[in-house]
Amino acid sequence: MACNFVLFRRGQNFSLHTHTIGFDGQNTPADMVAAAQQVGLRHLGISNHFIVHPDITKSKFYPFAVRGGYKSIYSSSFDEAIAKFKPHYEELNRLADTSDIKIYRGMEVDFFDYPEWRAGFEQAIKILKPDYIIGASHFVEMDGELHNVHDFSNADNVTRTRLLISYWTKLGRAAESGLFNFMAHLDLPKKTGCGTEYYWVEEEQNVIDKLAETKTPIEINTSFYNRSDEPYPSARILKMVAASNVPVLLSDDAHQADFVGRHFERAYDFARSCGVKKFLTCRAILRKTR
Ligand SMILES: [Zn+2]
Ligand SMILES: [Zn+2]
Repeated sequence: MACNFVLFRRGQNFSLHTHTIGFDGQNTPADMVAAAQQVGLRHLGISNHFIVHPDITKSKFYPFAVRGGYKSIYSSSFDEAIAKFKPHYEELNRLADTSDIKIYRGMEVDFFDYPEWRAGFEQAIKILKPDYIIGASHFVEMDGELHNVHDFSNADNVTRTRLLISYWTKLGRAAESGLFNFMAHLDLPKKTGCGTEYYWVEEEQNVIDKLAETKTPIEINTSFYNRSDEPYPSARILKMVAASNVPVLLSDDAHQADFVGRHFERAYDFARSCGVKKFLTCRAILRKTR
C-alpha cells in the first residue's frame, strides 16, 4: 500500500537522474519509486548509463568496471545497448501502470563526437523511444584511446591538460548537438581533483555559451556532496550559468534508493546564492523536442 504522506519540498518535486540494479545502481526501479514517494517527489525518471563505443572494452578503465561488477553499463555496439534497454524499459512501463507518481524512461548517454556514433545513436533512439536523454562525458578520446575521467589524475601534467581540453571541447560539441534534454555534472573531472584551477574558466565559459545558444539546461548534481561542500558544478561555473541564463534543475544521481532527492534543499540554496533565479519544471524539461 502506497504511503500518501507527502513532505513539503523546497525547490523541486521530481528527480530525473537515477540508476538501478542491472546497470550500476544498487536498487530496483520499484525501490526507487518507493523512496521517491517517501521523500515527497511527484515524478521520477530512471536514467541508466547508455555508453556505446567499439573500443570501450579496451579502455584502461574497463577492468575496474569488471572488478566493480558494473561492466554492464558499457556496450561495444548499439545493438548490445538496445538489447539491455528493451527489457529495462518494459519493466519501467509496467511500473508506471501501477505507481501513484509519474515514472519516466530516461538514459544518461555518453556523447561521442563522430558521425557513425551519431547515426547509431539516432537509430537507437527511434527504437527505444526514451522520454528524455541526459548528456554526459565520462570518457574522452585522445591519441586513439579512450580515457575515463578517473584516469586524468594519474596522467602527467601535459597529458592531463590535453585531456581536460578534450573534455571541455567534447562537452561543447555535446551542447551543440541538440540531442540532450539536459547536461549532467559539467565539471566531472573534479571527482579526481582535476580541472579546478581558475585558468579553466575560459573553457567553462565557452561550453556555457554553447548551452545558452542551444537553450540546453544543466543539472546541479548533489552526488558530489559526498566528497565536498559543493555539488557539480562549482560556484564559479554556476555563477556563469546564471549570468548566461542557462536553465537549471536539481539532480541527485542516486545509485541507491536512500539517495533519491538527497541534498535538494542544500543545492537549491547554493544555486540561489550563485544567482540562479529560475528552476525548471519537470514538464519543461521533458517537453524539449529533439
Ligand atoms: Zn554520470
Ligand atoms: Zn549518473
